[in-house]
Amino acid sequence: MSRKELLTHLASQVTVCTKCPLWKTRRTAVPGDGNARSKIIFIGEAPGRSEDAQGRPFVGAAGKFLDELLSEIGVSREDIFITNVVKCRPPRNRALKSLEVQTCTPYLDKQMRMIRPKFIVTLGNHATAYIFSKTELPFSGITLAHGKAHEATILGMKVTVFPMFHPATVLYNPKYKTVLQQDFQSLKADVERAL
Ligand code: URA
Ligand code: SF4
Repeated sequence: MSRKELLTHLASQVTVCTKCPLWKTRRTAVPGDGNARSKIIFIGEAPGRSEDAQGRPFVGAAGKFLDELLSEIGVSREDIFITNVVKCRPPRNRALKSLEVQTCTPYLDKQMRMIRPKFIVTLGNHATAYIFSKTELPFSGITLAHGKAHEATILGMKVTVFPMFHPATVLYNPKYKTVLQQDFQSLKADVERAL
């Protein structure tokens, strides 16, 4: 099977998954989508209301802002792969429970093994904490980690982990907008140097 076929097969398993209680309240699971051959994977936290309705990642307000950030560095959604730590929406967007993260992340790990990215861009504290926990890197919060490249080995692959504040942060606190714009410019420079 090609990489794309493997990812599609995994997505079909996610769509019918009942391994953790979040399946009971979801409308549609959100496996993630994008370019199977991309060298860059973006990882958010969990689907929100719009994503749960459409079955696609980052299609609501945070997603619109993410599209803006990407277009400022000349990248389109078709160039990258985007997914989340957890594939089903938590009710009323409540915080994730550790059991949900533990139960769902084998899907994310499989996606990373299939894609073999060179860059892993983590969006927000949760995604960053999860990815750092799979490396030898110490993690002391997104405020210290954001906007820089962290070289690491994850699932046996050498990667650059590049944490960002979650795009939704800007919806609550506009002062993060310029931070995110600057961090995306740094990402662009690092990607151009490396790829
Ligand atoms: N926030 C996320 O973390 N992921 C989505 O898919 C949408 C909003
Ligand atoms: Fe399955 Fe993950 Fe959805 Fe839980 S959140 S039901 S583990 S796909």
